[in-house]
Amino acid sequence: MKRRGGKKISKLSNGERVDSGDRINNVTKNGQKLDRRKLVKYEALPEYLQDNEFIRDYYRCEWPLKDIALSVFSWHNETLNIWTHLGGFVIFVTLTAMSLTEKTTVESLFSGIFRPAGDGQLITMKKNGSSDSFPDSYAKHISESILDVSGDGYEVAIWPWFVFLGGAMSCLICSTLSHLFACHSLRFSLFFWRLDYAGISIMIVCSFFCPIYYIFCSQPYWCLFYLTTITIFGILAIITLLSPALFSGRFRSFRATLFLAMGFSGLIPATHALFLHFNHPQVLVALGYEIVMGLLYATGAVFYMTRFPERCKPGAFDLVGHSHQIFHVFVVAAALAHCVASLLIMDWRRGWPTYNAGMQ
Ligand SMILES: [Zn+2]
Repeated sequence: MKRRGGKKISKLSNGERVDSGDRINNVTKNGQKLDRRKLVKYEALPEYLQDNEFIRDYYRCEWPLKDIALSVFSWHNETLNIWTHLGGFVIFVTLTAMSLTEKTTVESLFSGIFRPAGDGQLITMKKNGSSDSFPDSYAKHISESILDVSGDGYEVAIWPWFVFLGGAMSCLICSTLSHLFACHSLRFSLFFWRLDYAGISIMIVCSFFCPIYYIFCSQPYWCLFYLTTITIFGILAIITLLSPALFSGRFRSFRATLFLAMGFSGLIPATHALFLHFNHPQVLVALGYEIVMGLLYATGAVFYMTRFPERCKPGAFDLVGHSHQIFHVFVVAAALAHCVASLLIMDWRRGWPTYNAGMQ
């Protein structure tokens, strides 16, 4: 994009030049009227919006902000990218609200889905020597954690669970907003894709807090070491991804590899956890869910990098079924698998008396 006489000039692929004012006023250089909300083909996009040449049509291009905001409810090639992560965001907001307010909490929900009926010991919290199914709300647990009032039972700090939920919500809403608004202008594109990459990095870092805190809370030095390391890794990733040079499609694989490297660095504490707690079935089951999470993220990343299936039949998956939509679904599924793993580890730690001894 170039500036001429204070106006931004975009170069289209077909060689035509259109200034941003003309786009907003719906008039091309040769006097043709543009529909304010017309969807355009790949060739009609300015260079900064040309990301995936296998998606041929249905692009929103430099629409006014109001029209872009309303386009969340209309069909274009970003509609399902927006709604897959907006749906995920709503799921995690619901989990957070339930965790804060409900007496029967998300553990009940997940235990109902993933465990056979009658095997309810998973969700019990021992208190005063008796089994009791969540007598208090999480809000109370949070205040107890902050105030370090652990009582007679095996209370565990709940903040790492909320760190994960916060990271997941941040990632999903940043992604939703990016897919919605990045097409407005070059400035918006640069800002929102940075936000998207930062959101992914934050979610990966936050995902480490729950399992590492509960697995290693008896070994605070290891706990601090792992959490500090992944946090530094995440900050370095965000700084790296702030470079505009890395935004182009050429660096798609680099970005995916960076995120996968962050995620799979979790294999080191996971192996350590296995070594420490190999005789605790709940830990093994939780690690199993973490493996499922890793496989889901990796599968999603393969779709992201290869741009399958649209590369096999360009134009056939513009609206439904292209790789980025599939990648989004795998991201939400992976985050839910991590939810289950985290809840299993929390529950295991609640049932382990040495937790309190280790923390005192
Ligand atoms: Zn995305």
